[in-house]
Order: sequence, then structure tokens, then C-alpha cells
Amino acid sequence: MFHKNKYKKACVIGIGRSGRAAAVLLKKQGFDVLISEESFIEHADSFNLPSGVLVETGGHTKAVFESDFIVKSPGIFPASPVLLECKKRGIPVFSELETALAFAPKGITVFAVTGTNGKTTTTALLGEILDEHCRREGKGRQTYVSGNIGTPVSSVVQQLKKGDFLIIEVSSYQLEDSTYFRPKYACILNVTPDHLDHHGGMKNYIKAKAKVFKNQREGDVLVLNGADAACAQISGKAKGELLAFSTHPNHLLKTDVFFDGDEIIFSEGHQLRPPHLKGIHNVENAMAAALMAFAAGVAPATVQAVFERFHAMEHRIEQFAHHGGVVYVNDSKATNVDSTVTALKSFDKNRNIWLILGGRDKGASYAPLIPLLRERCKRILSIGEAMDKIDGELGKLFPITRCWDLPRAVDYAFENAVRGDIVLLSPACASFDQFKDFEERGRVFKQLVNTRIFASRMDGKKK
Ligand code: ADP
Repeated sequence: MFHKNKYKKACVIGIGRSGRAAAVLLKKQGFDVLISEESFIEHADSFNLPSGVLVETGGHTKAVFESDFIVKSPGIFPASPVLLECKKRGIPVFSELETALAFAPKGITVFAVTGTNGKTTTTALLGEILDEHCRREGKGRQTYVSGNIGTPVSSVVQQLKKGDFLIIEVSSYQLEDSTYFRPKYACILNVTPDHLDHHGGMKNYIKAKAKVFKNQREGDVLVLNGADAACAQISGKAKGELLAFSTHPNHLLKTDVFFDGDEIIFSEGHQLRPPHLKGIHNVENAMAAALMAFAAGVAPATVQAVFERFHAMEHRIEQFAHHGGVVYVNDSKATNVDSTVTALKSFDKNRNIWLILGGRDKGASYAPLIPLLRERCKRILSIGEAMDKIDGELGKLFPITRCWDLPRAVDYAFENAVRGDIVLLSPACASFDQFKDFEERGRVFKQLVNTRIFASRMDGKKK
């Protein structure tokens, strides 16, 4: 357990967003702080870290081993040589999440949302619901949304006061490092193959996800997807109240809520119209957010008010343009096969989708796409490092054009799509082979399409 009064010298491994936030927090709390980063970062000084924070990039020096404790950024391999050496020398290693929470005041309520897909949408939705609840309640209580969604927990803990709500979007990377994390309300949306290279297989991946409720006790609440095999498999370990949701008729767990195709119906008797978001998966996200909110005492009218005004989030099945009868959709956040399956399912079976697929492969098979490709797609436009694997697994079964990168894929789609078609970027892969992150990939896609549309309109005017 991280005891803040026991240590003086901190070393943060990894200079990513969470690592930097942890360094800022620790410095403010009076620690000596070193950030040590394996890769060379040319402009590390542009991060505007507080004075006195020491930074080393391009490798770890012996200064790391002179620290009293290590804060590990999510994403650093637990078996990386520097961490193994720390453990060998008996230097305690803590996650950014648990280090940050050690500085949170007593009396806050922690909500944690995890799952392979839907985390950000559910976290944002729950954040808005709890925020609206706090406003209506008028007691000065506040809601903070943090974690993977963008603001590290380290950046918000110092603002928290007794009674506040803290919602954390937690990734499997953060969970695998945690030992005593105990949210009062935890949720696992689904567990399908992803990050298998990092975790070393599905078994470890499920184990990491299950850590979100490992330390829960009686009186705590766990929300699970009742139709998800992995959720069903680990549900027996729940120590708090178990609530399950499902939109499927064939669920594995007894569910507390179902969808009649029109309204979400809760076993307690409330009925809610779902948010105006595309796809049945978003009904599931809404069910999960509502179950957590109800368990925390939020009124159904508050949840409904937020459902009415909640809109699609950027990079998530985001319909951003249409031109000449062709619709353009940015689903850059689909960084694994299952989320592309979800995206394809949210469209009709019209065989009118030009699917831009590829990027950095994450180790899972593309086979689950096959039935949906046949039902709903015209052609795959493949890009990035995964092109050969996509060709190997799908090439004999479905037409593919190798486009190498987004500009060529957009050009091809623009030239060939006809009225009634959909051009969908839903890559099923990580973005890091050609982009900084999925957000940059999505923005570049939108810019490329909008530039083509603008040029085509100008051409039309000239003629
Ligand atoms: P995450 O934060 O877990 O990556 P997001 O809310 O950002 O999830 O959604 C990313 C993509 O995952 C969406 O564009 C959609 O294709 C898919 N998705 C979202 N919610 C779900 C869900 N409940 N089940 C399956 N897929 C989903």
C-alpha cells in the first residue's frame, strides 16, 4: 500500500500524460521527483513540468534505483527490465492510479468503468448524469470525470472534497498494476480480445479486468454485462451487489434491465428512452450508466434528462459529412476487431459500406468480421502495417484494395463511392504505425474528406 508519509524520493517511469500528471502531483505534495523515460524525447522541456522535477529520457540511469518508490505509468510492461530491477532491489512499485488516490480526501465516492469497448462513452454519460444530479441536489457536491478518458486521476485528486463523486475510466493496463483499488461502484461493459500482446493472452486480460471489483466488499455494487461470457465467468467472485444488463434475449446472467426495441425497462419499474446514439451497443452503455446511477440514488428523471441531450462523441461512429449522397463516418476509436464488428452492426444490411481497415495489428483475428463484411460491405480499403495480415485472413473471401495509407484510401473511396454508400473508417487496429493516436487519425480522416468535398464543390461551381 502506498503510504505517503513513508517516502521522500519518487521516480515516475514513463513521461506520458499520466506519468507527467503523477510527477506534478508528487512535486506539489513535497516529494523529490525524477521522471525516467526509456525513449529519447527531444523536447521534454516543453512539457512545462514544475521546477525541480528532474527528467531523464533515452534510457534509465542509476538515479532510478536511488528512489524510495516507483510510480509506473500505465502501458509500461510490468516485466520491463527497469521494473524487474526495482523489484529485485526491493523498491516498491505503485500504479499512477493508486498513487493518486492516496492523496484523495476521505468521504468521496469512486465509480470505475472498464471493459474492452464502450468505456469512454459510458464514463462520459455517467459523468453527465452525476453532474446533473449534483446540480439538482444543490448541496455543493461535485462530479469529476478522470482516467483514460483524458484527465489522469493525478490531475484531479487535489481538487476533490468530501462528498464528491469521482468517476474513473480504467484500462486493463491500470488495473493489472493495482492491488488495493476499491471503487464503491464498478462496471465491466464487456471483455473481448484486445491488448493480448501486452497481457500475454486472454486469461490474463480477463484477470486484469476482474481487478476492478477484486477488493469490493458487501455494500459495494458491481454492474456486469449479462450476455458476456467473460463477465459471466467472473461474476461468482462478486462480493457486493451484482447488477446485470443485456440487450440480448440469450443472456448468461439474470439481468436487471432489458430493451424492448424502444425503451429501456428496469426491473425496479422505471422505463427510459435511450440516448440518441447509433447502435445497440450504445443502449448497453446507457443501461450500464443508468444502473450505476440508480444504485447511487439518482432519480430516473435526471437520467432521462441527460439521455435526451447526450450526443455522439467524436471518433465514435461519428457521421461528420455527406456529399453526393455518400455518407462519411469516423470511427477511428475502433482500435480492435470487436469495436469494428459493433460499428458494422449499427448499419443496415445494404452492402454499401467502403470499410477503411488497418493500422497497427493487435494480435487478434479478423475472422469475426467475415459475416458482417458479406452482409454490409462493398470493399475493404486496407491501410497500415496490418495490410498483409488482413490480406492473408480476408483476401480470399472478400474484395480488398491495398491503399497503404489514409490519403490513398480516401481518394479511392471518393472516386468510387456512389449515392447511397457509406465510407466508414473503423480500422480495428491501433493507430501508432502512422499517427500519434486515434484522435489524430480521426481528425486527419475528416480533414482529407472535407478537403475533397470542398474541392469537388469548387469544381462544380467552375463548371
Ligand atoms: P473505449 O473507451 O472502451 O474504447 P468508446 O466509448 O470510446 O470505448 O467506443 C469506442 C468504440 O467501441 C465505438 O466507436 C464502438 O465501435 C465500440 N463500442 C462502444 N460501446 C460498445 C459496447 N458497449 N460494446 C461493444 N462495442 C462498443
